[in-house]
Amino acid sequence: MTTNTANSVQSTFLRQQPVKMLIGGQWVESTSGKTFATINPATTEVLAQVAEGESEDINRAVAAARKAFESGPWPKMTPSQRGRLLWKLADLLEAHAEEFAALETLDNGKPIKYAKGGDVPLTVDHFRYFAGWASKLEGETIPVSIPNMFTYTLREPLGVVGQIIPWNFPLQMASWKLAPALACGNTVVLKPAEQTPLTALRLGELICEAGFPDGVVNIVPGFGETAGAALAAHPDVDKIAFTGSTEVGRKIVQASAGNLKKVTLELGGKSPNIIFPDADLKYAVRGAMNAIFFNQGQVCTAGSRLFVHQSVYEQVVSGLAEYAQKMKIGAGIDPASDLGPLVSQEQLERVLGYVESGKHEGASVVTGGERVATQDLAGYFMRPTVFDDVQDEMRIAREEIFGPVVVALPFENVEEVAVRANASIYGLAAGVWTSDVKIAHKMASTLKAGVVWVNTYNMFDAAAPFGGYKQSGYGREMGHAVLDAYTQTKTVWMGLR
Ligand code: ADP
Repeated sequence: MTTNTANSVQSTFLRQQPVKMLIGGQWVESTSGKTFATINPATTEVLAQVAEGESEDINRAVAAARKAFESGPWPKMTPSQRGRLLWKLADLLEAHAEEFAALETLDNGKPIKYAKGGDVPLTVDHFRYFAGWASKLEGETIPVSIPNMFTYTLREPLGVVGQIIPWNFPLQMASWKLAPALACGNTVVLKPAEQTPLTALRLGELICEAGFPDGVVNIVPGFGETAGAALAAHPDVDKIAFTGSTEVGRKIVQASAGNLKKVTLELGGKSPNIIFPDADLKYAVRGAMNAIFFNQGQVCTAGSRLFVHQSVYEQVVSGLAEYAQKMKIGAGIDPASDLGPLVSQEQLERVLGYVESGKHEGASVVTGGERVATQDLAGYFMRPTVFDDVQDEMRIAREEIFGPVVVALPFENVEEVAVRANASIYGLAAGVWTSDVKIAHKMASTLKAGVVWVNTYNMFDAAAPFGGYKQSGYGREMGHAVLDAYTQTKTVWMGLR
């Protein structure tokens, strides 16, 4: 993967100026004619102008999705036909893997090795996994206690689903939302994040090519306060699925109240990653590095609170700092880069603001803590950062930073660390490093988090449910758990007398 692929992506998909939105099977400009720029965060250059959807465009997209749900070919298609379309989409994506990896890297900044080795294949797999579920949505027969009744359930789609996704894994997030919704027979209006709309829109082209009927998938790029808010509040949308910050999640719940649409939310985190003294420290330190610095720390499950037993604290913190210093910071498109730029100027400022707040509150920077700005690295780069001398009450130890910043916190015993790890408004993920099976199971059951990784971190699979406890969200994505979020149960009673 080289700059050649990047150049060819720029001259093929980015040929259109502006990139249009997908409504009712047509590629259209926004009603207002407005566009917005999407930036390459490695260079700060404009990659493309993109049609800027607002409430009128959301109205058109919802109307198209409603029509496709009620009267198009879609509701008449058999489950296996729906499954085949999803499988075909996976094949098309796989055939364009290099292009999608390059486009994702250009728009988001992430190292190409991860886009190519992770984002794209995991997205392909996601569509394939849910292609299989389309034909397996079974109801039940219910043994009611009333004589002469035959009672059974049907699992039906919800209708028009609005989906709002973030910028950290733009393509994967699109697949987490689209694949189960479509497998269950819903129609969709998807709003990608304004920072990273390109892979979702290119996926829209493949969705058309695969043969999904018009209006089944509509993709409206635009800003959160306009397009996103209009979608969340729309009276003809039956469900909203949102991934993003807890702050915006709260707004989505409020906006959805008008027609009491169903809501699922995958929100923020401040995940504890806990290293016990009996852990295999070589793996644990490397695991702690990946847990926080993968994707520039812009991961909702980032292991941002690193609890380390006091007996190995110095060793782990210095090992982690050494790893951080060795990471190659560079444009994502360079195959050698380990750490790309943050997604935007705004995000860089936000994260550096947290670094300042940490210093101000008395924490010490072990390594990093600053922007990297050289002639070669003109974008939004910063050094991976490790904080020591941190108190649990500090903002850097409580709030989601969403950047390559970890706070190291020493602990004394199992009971104490469990209480401290759980003392958070969030409950998305947690990590435990130990070779003691009793500690592993005890922690797995005690930690209040939707996923607990033991001697590993940031593992995801289409088959494994994912979602948050507490203010990290409602509902689960992936696995068969997500099917509940995109279907509703109808109970049918037949009198047999
Ligand atoms: P971040 O702060 O990391 O950018 P956000 O939660 O703000 O994450 O954004 C996630 C998604 O939510 C994006 O697609 C964004 O456009 C959208 N969004 C932001 N504000 C709103 C809002 N008020 N209503 C609906 N969607 C929103």
